[in-house]
Amino acid sequence: MLQANLKSPRQFALERVEKPKLEEGQILVKVKQTGICGSDIHAFNGKHPFISCPIVLGHEFVGTAAEGGPASSQLLGKRVTVLPSLVCGTCYNCRIGRFNICENLKVIGAQAPGAFAEYVRVPEEMVFVLPSSLDWDQGVLIEPLAVAVHAVRRIARIGGQSVLVLGAGTIGLMVIAALRAYGAGQIIAVDLSENRLRLAEELGADAGLNPKGADLETWLEKEVVRIDSSFECVGLAETVNQGIKFTYKGGNVVVLGVFEENASIEMGLVQDKELNLLGTLMYTKEDYYEAIRIMGLNPGLSRLITHRFPLRQAAQAFAVLEDQKEEALKVVLEL
Ligand SMILES: [Zn+2]
Ligand SMILES: [Zn+2]
Repeated sequence: MLQANLKSPRQFALERVEKPKLEEGQILVKVKQTGICGSDIHAFNGKHPFISCPIVLGHEFVGTAAEGGPASSQLLGKRVTVLPSLVCGTCYNCRIGRFNICENLKVIGAQAPGAFAEYVRVPEEMVFVLPSSLDWDQGVLIEPLAVAVHAVRRIARIGGQSVLVLGAGTIGLMVIAALRAYGAGQIIAVDLSENRLRLAEELGADAGLNPKGADLETWLEKEVVRIDSSFECVGLAETVNQGIKFTYKGGNVVVLGVFEENASIEMGLVQDKELNLLGTLMYTKEDYYEAIRIMGLNPGLSRLITHRFPLRQAAQAFAVLEDQKEEALKVVLEL
């Protein structure tokens, strides 16, 4: 089979290799599409804190269940997506249902071979059959939507809350869709791109603010009673500190961004305002089921896919994401 192996930072090698051999409880997925994630770009540049080369990336994918043991016969031939976590099942967090933070977590496409390849080997228990109402494009976006669902569910009572979403890339936009699905009140999106802000409004944000054109603080003071929760979807100290600054006393700041560098955070305000500073990582099966349900309610989310490339052109796909001349959002590789 063909695979794009990130041999060293910024260097893909197209390789012909044997199809992965299956062990018990695993199935082989014939990949149809793979999304490129923000975390893949960090890895591509050799700057992801937990991914190192060589690695076959690709953790957001859809395809057809192609091979498996006798127990998986009902899955074979079905269109599927996969929760890409490899978990131990025995550590404390696995036992209490928080396998997204398994002590021994590995991720397909991060610490195990991923779906920048014709076939990928996955645990059968992490396979989700796509309902017939979802097409491949909606299916390949289940993973980033599940990230957003998990983040929103970190807050117990999001219904009616006023929310600030810092960064309206794929994850920020998915957070907006999830917030709407869970009954949030006023949603304010902040981004430097007018295009993204327009999309944010189409997906349910009440207002999109560009800090280049408006003074965030003045605008929020005038238009919003209070921000109950903020979602940081960028991965910079500046945006975390905006969340800390603008969130009302006693509120929540949820951090989704991947940080390439250590961030200097205004801890004095976290303490003084009694804020809840919440990390969030990946998702559980429940979040995946919820993402599939919410995608069904928002079929238009497939607009987030702006570019498509064949696997052979993985390097070009990353270039489009990096230079942002064409304002790429989700770029998918097609097999
Ligand atoms: Zn991802
Ligand atoms: Zn575990």
